[in-house]
Amino acid sequence: MPQAPVAIYNHLNYFNALFHEAKENAVLLLDTDGIVLEVNKAFISSFGYERDDVCGKHFRMLFTEEDRLKDRPDKEIAAAVSQGQAYDNNYLVQKDNVITWVSGESTLIKDEAGKIYVLKIIQNINEQKISENAIISLSNFTDSILKSIEDGIVVLNKDLKIIRANESFSRLFALGETKIADADFAKLIARYDKNNDLLHKIQLAVSSKKGFSNVQLQLSENTAQEKIFEVNCSPVKDGSTESNVLLIVHDITVQKQAERDRDDMIGFIGHELRNPITNVLLSHNLLEALVETNDAGTIKELLERSKKNVLRLNRMINELYNSTKINAGHFELEKTEFYFTDMISEAVETVQMLHPDYKIAVDNSAGTVVTADRYRLVQVVTNYLGNSIKYAGGKKDIRISITIQNNFVEVAVKDQGIGIAKAHLPFIFDRFFRAEKTMNLEGIGLGLFLCKQIIHAHNGHVWAESEEGDGSTFYFSIPLRP
Ligand code: ADP
Repeated sequence: MPQAPVAIYNHLNYFNALFHEAKENAVLLLDTDGIVLEVNKAFISSFGYERDDVCGKHFRMLFTEEDRLKDRPDKEIAAAVSQGQAYDNNYLVQKDNVITWVSGESTLIKDEAGKIYVLKIIQNINEQKISENAIISLSNFTDSILKSIEDGIVVLNKDLKIIRANESFSRLFALGETKIADADFAKLIARYDKNNDLLHKIQLAVSSKKGFSNVQLQLSENTAQEKIFEVNCSPVKDGSTESNVLLIVHDITVQKQAERDRDDMIGFIGHELRNPITNVLLSHNLLEALVETNDAGTIKELLERSKKNVLRLNRMINELYNSTKINAGHFELEKTEFYFTDMISEAVETVQMLHPDYKIAVDNSAGTVVTADRYRLVQVVTNYLGNSIKYAGGKKDIRISITIQNNFVEVAVKDQGIGIAKAHLPFIFDRFFRAEKTMNLEGIGLGLFLCKQIIHAHNGHVWAESEEGDGSTFYFSIPLRP
């Protein structure tokens, strides 16, 4: 049902005066078919047209091609005619073809003779639109920055409810799909913040409006999931009276682990390298005294002891050096083609020469050719054999088996020695790991770690099976072809 026109175009002079007085708003008078009958001065000055450019023409000329295709001009007239009034925001094409964002209000009016017209008032809101767009793109920009930042960022209100958080924050706290807006931050961190240290600091930051920096938060439920974060907090200064705080949570687990490794390394250097050095120095002091007496037998004995200690030092320094090299990523394989069993024989002969009282048997199935880093593989087998001897507990039989399976060559080094406790087995390939009961034996816990790195670099696998007190079998497998 069309509504009655709200205004009466009953007095031409009065209307004309009103029409032309309007300085800010552009006004057009249209008939109900959309033909422009009259425009005011504000329209001419705002959009660059002359009166004759538009009067007598359909007002669709003021719309963009896109809007014309969507029939927006006709729909607007139809809405004004059927409802008495219509509002719209759209682009208006100026005389110079520049488009500007306008808001329009069309009202149905009637003259004394009862003829119906549409009066369209246009406001230029281009500036407003530009600012709106700028705000939207700024907000999109902020969102994309927040998304791409690795640190967790979260804004809390004075009750420590989460107002906003980025994706990294959800990821760091493993929140998955959980809705975090409005979540209780105190609850979220409760299981990690055992003495509520962080919570108290945040509460203080909220009440005092003063932030804090570099507070560490340790999440450790078990060692595998241990995470260490550094938390920075600052009050949000957005002009509001609300006491919101911004927290930046930086994951420093890897950095902390590296620091620990470095400390461990220094600790090992202190403990393990000091003994052989003291031994060598002692031997040298004694040698000095003995040279005077010409006691060749004792001199020889002391020289041998000294040499053994120097070799021990050399071995440890090599392991430390290799481990830092591998860790720093300077680890390159030098691959050649060779008979796999030749490589095993080389390792066995080296170990056998140093330990002639041990019996190392090799079950050799086939003369397989592999492409791999021979020198590094000898290192692995020597290490496995060395451990079998070191942890033999008096049992001197060692057996090496070589099998081929699914394009992998697999090696097993089996000893009858002291074995490894079940609880320790998952960690023996870790850097610096040493089972408690072997602490009294020489070693720094790097050998198996190096073996693992070498085999992984070959795209292979390492593993071990053991029963405490009943021997161990150490395995590795590598692809026959790279
Ligand atoms: P290291 O021998 O210098 O301590 P490794 O990395 O070679 O370092 O070995 C790590 C730990 O694994 C050893 O300290 C020992 O507790 C255990 N282990 C390794 N090989 C054997 C083995 N054949 N029998 C028993 N325990 C072993």
